[in-house]
Amino acid sequence: MSQRSVALIDEQNCIGCAICIEVCPFDAIIGAQNFSHRINYDECPGCKICVDKCPTDCIKVVEINQSKNDIKEKVKYNFDRRKLRKEGLQKKYEESIKEQLDRISNNYK
Ligand code: SF4
Ligand code: SF4
Repeated sequence: MSQRSVALIDEQNCIGCAICIEVCPFDAIIGAQNFSHRINYDECPGCKICVDKCPTDCIKVVEINQSKNDIKEKVKYNFDRRKLRKEGLQKKYEESIKEQLDRISNNYK
């Protein structure tokens, strides 16, 4: 089975600056200003150009096994991306709950 490289964005640390879109020679990044970005798995050959340009250091290049008949790697990649996104949302949610609880308890001091 052949191996290839592909970029993966940790969406919880993406600030939506869109710098990566500007520098990607393969037009392999999807996103809009101020929203988290993601990689188009099929278009990215893992050239790494975007990695050093990201101001929050949230892009890494990962190695995957790939065969045209095997979609397992693609599914795994998408699940990894979703896991990162869910962890980020969970963290933000917990921070927001803590903030609200602090505010409430301060009102009763
Ligand atoms: S350069 Fe980094 S922070 Fe900016 S949009 Fe791309 S992935 Fe997000
Ligand atoms: S690794 Fe290269 S091709 Fe892939 S998203 Fe980054 S700049 Fe584009």
